[in-house]
Amino acid sequence: MLREFTCLVCPRGCVLEADPEKSGDGRVKGAACPKGLLYATQELDDPRRTFSTSVRVLAGESPLVPVRLTKPIPRAAIGEALALIHAITLTAPVQAGQVLLSDILGLGSEAIAVRSVEAGERTAESL
Ligand code: SF4
Repeated sequence: MLREFTCLVCPRGCVLEADPEKSGDGRVKGAACPKGLLYATQELDDPRRTFSTSVRVLAGESPLVPVRLTKPIPRAAIGEALALIHAITLTAPVQAGQVLLSDILGLGSEAIAVRSVEAGERTAESL
């Protein structure tokens, strides 16, 4: 069955049509450049995504810190990765860029804090 999706590699946003049953030339149509062919092939064979979430922080000026992955991981592994990250509880202070979980599920991606959370009492603004 043909799949249609938009290439996200550049702002041009070519609409790609791909046939997962085929291989080689003709598998992907609509790409204006080789990057789009690579993108479509990756989407068909090994779709990967990154995500952002948050982790609980104790004794900090904020109860949560935003977290993101450093590299996309296979879509099928996202649920398990999220469960691992959500099991983390940090104690302030937390530094922006601090690695909270390295080599998640052996996939070479890290979960890092997006911003710092200082130790301290929560203010009305942080709630
Ligand atoms: S196929 Fe090439 S030109 Fe088209 S959106 Fe993708 S990267 Fe951009």
